[in-house]
Amino acid sequence: AVPLVVAISTAVSANNGLLIRNRTAFENSRRITTIIFDKTGTLTQGSHEIASVVTFENAIDKKEMLRLAAGVEQNSEHYIAQAILRKVKADGIPVPPSQSFNYLPGKGLEGKVEGKDVKVVGPNYMQEYNIQVPASQAEEGVETVVYTLVDGAPVGYITMRDQIREESAGAIQVLKENGIKNLLLTGDNERVAKSVSDKLQMDGYLANVLPHQKQEKVKELQAKGEFVAMTGDGVNDAPALAQADVGIAIGSGTDVAAETADIILVNSNPQDIASLILFGKATYKKMI
Ligand code: ADP
Ligand code: MG
Repeated sequence: AVPLVVAISTAVSANNGLLIRNRTAFENSRRITTIIFDKTGTLTQGSHEIASVVTFENAIDKKEMLRLAAGVEQNSEHYIAQAILRKVKADGIPVPPSQSFNYLPGKGLEGKVEGKDVKVVGPNYMQEYNIQVPASQAEEGVETVVYTLVDGAPVGYITMRDQIREESAGAIQVLKENGIKNLLLTGDNERVAKSVSDKLQMDGYLANVLPHQKQEKVKELQAKGEFVAMTGDGVNDAPALAQADVGIAIGSGTDVAAETADIILVNSNPQDIASLILFGKATYKKMI
């Protein structure tokens, strides 16, 4: 039988922007000691606006690089892909079809466009394969950077800026007031991660984190005795959402994240996590 107070709590929580998929996890939310946040789409809007398009000397024409990049990115639903496709559309560049494509989880994607092998990848891919690029402003800004490679040769890069959600700072603040640690985990680069973490005054961050490493981090904290909640929106976050003691998905995120999570923030408002914490405590008090 469902205790009446919990049944009522679940109904009330719907009015607080929470959709409870797993009642046990919801009840356990009062035990949370650490909340891990994904960055893109969770603490930020995922609104990615292109800040710069840079090509390496004589490697390629800017429009041509964008055209080829869009050719592969049309296969992705990532915020980065959407930003590149918006830019190409705005510039009136027709998107060529791609013959095949392949996701590189947490790194980008590759595909065949007009017989060429095109990759659009993050700095982590460049490091992994030790691909050298000319020194650039990309190493100084607090932007997300993706490089374009054509037939294995780096031809340039695109930088983009995202916006922190208005409610994110308030959400972190409430966690702090309640003694709950917060941690940012992102596949994005170090400078962007640090910038978001600093602006929101978070307890810490980890950058260049691959999808399976998000899950490992949750496990690691659990092994240390932490009761861990994870908040995310992407396909990439699903393993970590499943691993967490309380998995929380952002409503505007992917179906995979929502289906894996215990609780969904229906209004995509991170501040509703605060009502979850406070509400869990209040409910528990009523029951004992
Ligand atoms: P986050 O953890 O911030 O939600 P993701 O794991 O989704 O980030 O992505 C991590 C990184 O992988 C991005 O910063 C980018 O470098 C690269 N990446 C992911 N998807 C794409 C894509 N469609 N095109 C290019 N790069 C991508
Ligand atoms: Mg995300």
